[in-house]
This record gives sequence, structure tokens and C-alpha cells, in this order.
Amino acid sequence: NSSSRVINFGAGPSALPLSVLEQATQGLLNFSNSGIGIAEISHRSKEFTSFVTKLESLIRTQLDVPPTHSILFTQGGGSNQFSAVVLNMLARYKLLHPEVKDEDISMDYVVTGSWSKKAAEEARRLGGKSKVNITVDSRDHSASKVFDNIPPHESYKFSQDPALIYYCENETVDGVEFSHEGNSASSFPYHLLPKSKEESPALIPLVADYSSSFMCRPIPRLADHAIIYAGAQKNIGPAGLTVIIVRQDCIVDVDAAAKLGASPVPIMLSYKTLADSKSLYNTPSVFAMYLTGLVLERMKEKGGLKYYEELNRKKAERVYGLLKEGEEKGVFKRKVNAGSESWMNVVFDVLGEGAEKRFLDGAEKDGMKGLKGHRSVGGIRVSLYNAVTEEDIDHLEKYIHQFLQAETA
Ligand code: PLP
Repeated sequence: NSSSRVINFGAGPSALPLSVLEQATQGLLNFSNSGIGIAEISHRSKEFTSFVTKLESLIRTQLDVPPTHSILFTQGGGSNQFSAVVLNMLARYKLLHPEVKDEDISMDYVVTGSWSKKAAEEARRLGGKSKVNITVDSRDHSASKVFDNIPPHESYKFSQDPALIYYCENETVDGVEFSHEGNSASSFPYHLLPKSKEESPALIPLVADYSSSFMCRPIPRLADHAIIYAGAQKNIGPAGLTVIIVRQDCIVDVDAAAKLGASPVPIMLSYKTLADSKSLYNTPSVFAMYLTGLVLERMKEKGGLKYYEELNRKKAERVYGLLKEGEEKGVFKRKVNAGSESWMNVVFDVLGEGAEKRFLDGAEKDGMKGLKGHRSVGGIRVSLYNAVTEEDIDHLEKYIHQFLQAETA
């Protein structure tokens, strides 16, 4: 029952609002008064197709997605999009510039953490003769050669006319995120982006992985992006649903591109397949979409992204405040440079023999789970997705104060 639930600070799949889970049990029995449960109903039923329209509009209105962009739903998570963005954007480039030889095509990757590094590796696998240009690698700007910073603007080396420019807005493992303060040193350098051959800034092939920061606050310069994608399982729902926001010039006839020499694209990875079928080419992840719809409805009722931006800012400020207290006492050590810290994933080390284990064991005894850092980097990671409440932070704060006192006694 719900009273046996603990506070979940996990990095994903992560907590969902209790009210939504309770509501979902109703839908499992009888979806939208159809007399059939959501896990049993046809995705072609009028109840479900009208639900998909509503889901689309809940995202479009809250994120302010312009009519130039389509919102698509698919499966396969962020990892599937590592492949899809490469294939669709290379097909688009081939159609625009059939005369350019493959070896002269480049794909620009901004590498600021483990996920963008993985995405660049997939581009190398799928890109054939075209080149992957690492625009910048933040490890080159780190004293300890790790992903602990957003690099300075002058270090980005974009290609002249890339097929795509890729970045990951929030690096979930490393706790590094682009700042949204327009003129901050750790914001994304939109002003340096190369002009495309069409000379229209609206056609910049900018691709962003928003998997772990989607709908936690507004997306700056959304309209200037070619593709923004996110798995649902951090802020807005369970695993199984991937949301893709695609500018319409990036929804291309991949078969026509293949005739010109581009790689063939698996039917379900083609954005055109998804767009032409209104995201219902095959059986979608019906239940994940349903739960996501409930979360988005609740978000709207609470006041939309303005509300969540304020809430998430407050939560992050409080947890970084606790981290600072711990640093001053010599117990915690930050992992990320000032200005590059993530709002969603706060990462730090606990210093001293056996101290990390004491921290995690104590937290678990006190009803908090999911605080262990990613296995590749260790340490502590506190994930602060939308469903984490200020009361949850009160609980964490009390625990950390007790912990600091015990460690320094
Ligand atoms: N990108 C980011 C930023 C992520 O955090 C993750 C997963 O945590 C992925 C991509 C991979 O997503 P998925 O597990 O949905 O394939």
C-alpha cells in the first residue's frame, strides 16, 4: 500500500506522483469509460486515438512548441534516438546536397558527459564514410580529465556545414547541465552555430537530448532546434515512451535519400513513418502513454512549466546549499565545477573511510532510496525530477544535518 512507499531519489525510472498512480489503477480497469482497461484496449479505438491527440497538445501547449515542429511518439528510449537522429539527418543532408561526397559530410558532437559520448560513438558506427567531428570534449577542460564542466564558448569548433549538431542538455551520470541563463559562460553557444548553406538560421540542424531534463523548465531557443527528444522515464512518465519534437524539414523521405546513396533507414526509425501515421504505425506503448498523459495533466493543473521551473530551482538550490555545508565541514566534495551543475542530478563524494556506505545505509534506514551514484563514476547522486517534492527535500535536509554532525563529532 502507499504508506509503505519510500522517498525515491533515483536517476530513472524515477518517482511518479502518488495521485497519478492511484488514478492509473482506475484506467487499468476501465479506460475513458470504454469498459476496457488501458492495457487491453485497441490503439485504434476512438478513445485511445483521441487520447493521443490530447497527449500531443499537453506537451505542445506547456512547452510552447511552434507549428513548425511535429511531436512524435515512439519506443526504444533515448538510445534508439542516438541511431535515429544520425540516419534521418544524413538522409536529409543527402536530399539537400546530393553532390557532396560522403567523406566530406560531417556530424558535429558536443561531448559533455557519458551520454553525449555514447551518442557520438553511435554516429561513428552508423555514419559510414561521413565524419564525426567532436566539436568539444569537456574532459579536455577538466583538471582531472573527467566530465565535470561545460566548456568555455571559445573552445567549440563547429564544422562549416554539418549534417547535424548534437548536444545533451543534462548529463544524467555526470551531473553536468547547460545553464539557461542566456549570457552565462556555461550556456549553450547558440551565437556560434554555423549558418547552414540555406543561410536561414531557422534551418540549423541542431539536435538535443533532453532525456533527463524534459519538461522540468522551459526549453530555451526551442524553435531553433531541428530535433529535441526525451525518454519519458525521468520527469513525465514510465519507461517505454520516447517523445520527439521534430522540425518539419527534418521529416524526410528516407527512401528517396537511399536511392541517392544514403543508408537505408529501418521503417520504425524513420520520422516520416511516425509523422505520417500520427505515431500509430504499429502498436505503441499504450500504458506508458496513458500514465504520461496523467502526469502532464497534473502538471498543467499545478501551473505548468512556470510552476515546475520555480519548484525545481528551489529544490536544486537547497540541495546545493547542503552540499556546500558538507564541504565546509570537510565531509562532502563536489564533483562538478561551479556554474555547470545540473538541476536534476546533484553529484558529490562523501569523504573518509567507509563514509559513503554510512551515508547510503543511513539514508535507506531513514526511508530514502536511489542515492547511489552511477556505477561508472561512484559517489552520491541525488536526482530531483518533477515528482520529488519540497517535503522530500525537508526529509533529506534533516538527514544530512544529522549525518554531518555524526561525521564531525
Ligand atoms: N540520454 C540521457 C541524458 C539519459 O539520461 C539516458 C538514460 O538515462 C539516455 C540517453 C538513454 O536513455 P534510454 O535508457 O531511454 O535509452
